[in-house]
Amino acid sequence: MTPLVVVLSAPSGGGKSTIARRLIAERHDAGVSVSATTRMPREGERDGEHYHFLSAAEFAQRVEAGDFVEHAEYAGARYGTLASELRRVTQGGRHVLLEIEVVGARLVRERFPDAVLIFVLPPSGHVLAERLRGRGTEDAAVVGRRLETAMAEIAAAVEYDYVVVNDDLEDAMRAVHAILDAEARRTTRQRDVTFLLDRLRIEVAAELSRTEPSR
Ligand code: 5GP
Repeated sequence: MTPLVVVLSAPSGGGKSTIARRLIAERHDAGVSVSATTRMPREGERDGEHYHFLSAAEFAQRVEAGDFVEHAEYAGARYGTLASELRRVTQGGRHVLLEIEVVGARLVRERFPDAVLIFVLPPSGHVLAERLRGRGTEDAAVVGRRLETAMAEIAAAVEYDYVVVNDDLEDAMRAVHAILDAEARRTTRQRDVTFLLDRLRIEVAAELSRTEPSR
């Protein structure tokens, strides 16, 4: 099976990190790409686990070296997907999950036209605002700015292949699992489909020849 490149986007507070974390915990055939960023680590965030935290100079140098498959700016910091992260996950035959914003998603689409783009929407503006306020790590001005950004991001949802409303987390999880399962079974993605068809043709021919005398 060809590993999928799966993009998961949502406005801040849309719940995509929870979905991504659950997804890789619940299935062995998927892994998450650890992005690089120039923003400071939040409390509890560890380098190499939540992000690869880079200085502005290191980030710029890695852009120059062509190490990123996409990179973008968000809320004054730089974020990017390292090619080495994609390789790390897909080398084991696993689907790779990119938790990225909309500009990066467009770049991934250009680079990997087969990528599966999923946008996670909050059920309402009120729920979105509550989730942002509930985080505690953000002050009111930050929440306000993120709500404005969220509005612009939500407008990009129509460019995605799938939209999942995260009202009930279990429902949202079922939807995302179903998308991955269906996409992985596309004829065009199954490298061994011609082999499978050849084998079936031979087997059916053998069955036919066995049944022929009684015809
Ligand atoms: P946060 O700072 O809240 O962790 O992330 C801010 C935004 O940057 C989120 O929308 C997140 O999905 C996005 N982001 C995280 N990693 C990447 C990345 O590698 N590339 C891009 N384009 N966006 C990213």
